[in-house]
Amino acid sequence: MCNSFNKKFLDEASKMYEQNDDPINEHEMFMSMAIDLAKKGMENEEGGPFGCIIVKDGKVIGKGNNKVTGTNDPTAHAEVVAIRDACAHLQDFQLTGCTIYATCEPCPMCLGAIYWARPEEVFYGALKGDAAKIGFDDQFIYEELDIEISNRKISFQQISRNESIKLFEIWENNDRKKPY
Ligand code: ZN
Repeated sequence: MCNSFNKKFLDEASKMYEQNDDPINEHEMFMSMAIDLAKKGMENEEGGPFGCIIVKDGKVIGKGNNKVTGTNDPTAHAEVVAIRDACAHLQDFQLTGCTIYATCEPCPMCLGAIYWARPEEVFYGALKGDAAKIGFDDQFIYEELDIEISNRKISFQQISRNESIKLFEIWENNDRKKPY
């Protein structure tokens, strides 16, 4: 399934660039696949103008486009969808040695997801300022990170610390745990 997926996309991308005189490198070719996914996602009314491709050893192992409105999932950003797809494909919770191609500079949520997934590198297309110009502004989230927790726009209140800390003891004492 992965091979036919790869072949189809590689064929399409190659065709696209046969008509283009500009030199094309592998990174731009994978980015063009991510851009294509974003376009198709918009056409299918799945979500916003964002796409993502994840590559390992020269092969596409994960793909995603924004599906926030189509699936009523505010976390279904292209990068998160692609990370889930790639991890399911690899049967691993880490993207060791992988390259992520995102059509836009990742938002704070996706940045966090990328750090948890631990890929090798990330290539991004549009800048976050470009996305902000059409209303996808995540600057306020960055600003919230620097604000005292009690002053944030969404109320955060601390309760039940001792009971919650007990979970960590259970984890630490579990010999069968899979550290990550
Ligand atoms: Zn995001």
